[in-house]
Amino acid sequence: MIIAEKNYELREVQKGYVNRTLYINLTNNEIAIKPVSNEMKEKFIGGKGFDLWLMWNSLPKNRIIKWNDLENEICISSGPLGGSIFYPGSGKSIVTSISPLTGIIIDSNVGGYFGPYLKFSGFDALEIQGKAKNEVIIYIDGIEGLIQIKEVEVSEGLSEYSHELTQQLTEKYAKDDAEKQRVSVVSSGPAARHTKWGMLNFSWFVRGRNWASSKQAGRGGIGTVFKDKNLKALVCLSPKVTINSNNPADLEGARKIGKMHSQEIIELDPIQNEMRKVGTGHLPDIMNVTDLLPTENFRFGMHKEISGKDIPYSREIMRTIYSGKEGADGCWIGCTVSCSHYSEGHQVLTGPFKGQKVIVDGPEYETIAGCGSNWGVWDPKWVLEVNFYADTYGLDTISLGTGIAFVMECYEEGILNKEITGGLDLSFGNAKAAMELIHQMAKGEGFGLVVGQGIKEMKKIFAEKYGADPKFLQDIGMEHKGLEFSEYVTKESLAQQGGYGLTNKGPQHDEAWLIFDDVIRNSIPTFEDKAKALRFFPYWRTWFSLNGLCKLPWNDIQPLSQREYPIKDPKTGELVRAKIPDHVKWYTEYYSAVTGRQSTTDDLLKMSERVYNFQRIFNIRLGKGLREHDSNLPYRAVGPVTPLEYESRVDRYDGQLEELGFDIEGKSTDEKIKKLRQHREKQYSKLQEAVYIERGWNQNGCPTIELIKELSIDFDDVLSVIKPHQ
Ligand code: SF4
Repeated sequence: MIIAEKNYELREVQKGYVNRTLYINLTNNEIAIKPVSNEMKEKFIGGKGFDLWLMWNSLPKNRIIKWNDLENEICISSGPLGGSIFYPGSGKSIVTSISPLTGIIIDSNVGGYFGPYLKFSGFDALEIQGKAKNEVIIYIDGIEGLIQIKEVEVSEGLSEYSHELTQQLTEKYAKDDAEKQRVSVVSSGPAARHTKWGMLNFSWFVRGRNWASSKQAGRGGIGTVFKDKNLKALVCLSPKVTINSNNPADLEGARKIGKMHSQEIIELDPIQNEMRKVGTGHLPDIMNVTDLLPTENFRFGMHKEISGKDIPYSREIMRTIYSGKEGADGCWIGCTVSCSHYSEGHQVLTGPFKGQKVIVDGPEYETIAGCGSNWGVWDPKWVLEVNFYADTYGLDTISLGTGIAFVMECYEEGILNKEITGGLDLSFGNAKAAMELIHQMAKGEGFGLVVGQGIKEMKKIFAEKYGADPKFLQDIGMEHKGLEFSEYVTKESLAQQGGYGLTNKGPQHDEAWLIFDDVIRNSIPTFEDKAKALRFFPYWRTWFSLNGLCKLPWNDIQPLSQREYPIKDPKTGELVRAKIPDHVKWYTEYYSAVTGRQSTTDDLLKMSERVYNFQRIFNIRLGKGLREHDSNLPYRAVGPVTPLEYESRVDRYDGQLEELGFDIEGKSTDEKIKKLRQHREKQYSKLQEAVYIERGWNQNGCPTIELIKELSIDFDDVLSVIKPHQ
């Protein structure tokens, strides 16, 4: 049943923008179109910048808004470069909301076609506020110029499972087979309603698979907010996409750079990471070799017995798991990296689809590490099983992986037992029991319901109800700011501890992935180096999310000329090689060619610095975002918590203590752990101070008024948020 609708005038994209956004309020069914000003484009660029600016203005400023308040929003925007089909990785959507896990802004950069389709249908961003009484679908028809809010009727027979629902809606809204490629669906599944780990699937129809595949906006529970708003799905039907749909200021110039980048990928990928064959599935064995693969709740960094590349998630094995043709798996048109692989014919082992053969989108590295090695599970068929159900139930596999790993350690430590878990033996390695938890999350019952509230909440419950030691739970529960860690062992990398702890949204590697430069290449040895890296990389990576881009083409396949650069500039000490200067230059030219704004690399960084600081200030407005919230990483992220962990790397840790002048002779492991801890926690604090200085923040972690003026975001309401913290 249609409960609201609005016709609108179709409009062409101009230099990457349509210059208007779409606002929908599900409480009163208002549908409104808002103009995009030049100032909004200059200062906030698009993507995450637009999302944050829209939220900043629409959320009430007189109180702190919670994730499930009517006023919380879900915003989706691509960005001015999003939708170009001549440059690899140019079809991302960026989603923001207030997270149920952290209470601050969460943002996800996701593939699938929705963001570009939204733009080609006439809107640079979609802003959804309020809650519907009953489940609704928002439909945007970019061919007819029509927006509808439709209440879902039982007689429609729409599935509650995201993968089935996506196929149903793709069929329903495409007038014929050829039109299926013009439909993109955003949806979640039943577990998003019962847990705080809900994610969103963004679809695209793949003719070769005859299937609508999905990429996930996974982090922070955006799917939970979606379900709380009583959204069943968003559907966009786009006009035909052509080389000129994004209408660049200089089409030929932009195409030329895109062609160079694409050619380089095709030439170099086979001798580098083979993303076109195995995607991020090339990573688990590298991580295992370098002792960085999360294993049994981040206690270890590798398989206990297999130390080389021969783990059951090796590149060789992953290659046999993925189906399809090399180069045909892009999550947006024209992406030559084409890393969005899938696996066909997985025979489901448990739950409502048991026995069926299904397509699984993935598995990608984070799922393999999170729901494989981190659970002590070393069998790809169980990773496929988790991947399939997480997608169809609407669960984030990173939080799921890290969360269940925590539960497994609590079980092995005797904090939990079968009486508490409802009879489940949750020892490491028990994939079947983990699957049962996941099915419970979808049904909203049993111990799975407790687990799905996230580690932060579980820590409280386990201490209050089951008498666990809160300090131990704090040490081993791998969450920070409320968000579960993504899948890298950071114990031996101070820079990556900062890369997780000093983030805006919580420990997610998309802000700063410094672990290799720090641990393997040892190219950022000093505090100053690390602090500089923790300024540059979060800003540079933010730039991709302002523009609707994927960052993988930037650094996952590297030009040969890269080797000619010094690791560091001898004069300035800046990291040169890690920044991939040839690609940064291409992105600068690409941005200038599409938007017509002639820009330098410094301009690009300034764009990101502005939005990054704005997000920080938004968090302060929400009652967080200061030094205390960047502090207190769980100690497992910093060093060994238990004697077992210490002993597993005894030579390394003993050596470090000796370097510090500590006499280890005759000392117990507990004494050594204590000493190492004092040192490492101090190091993290020192790093925090150095990074704040580098970013132009005061030691309370708040951007200074001078910086905000320099970034031209010294609006009255911004200043009033930061003034009390100067
Ligand atoms: S590199 Fe991979 S994730 Fe990024 S846009 Fe291309 S296919 Fe999608």
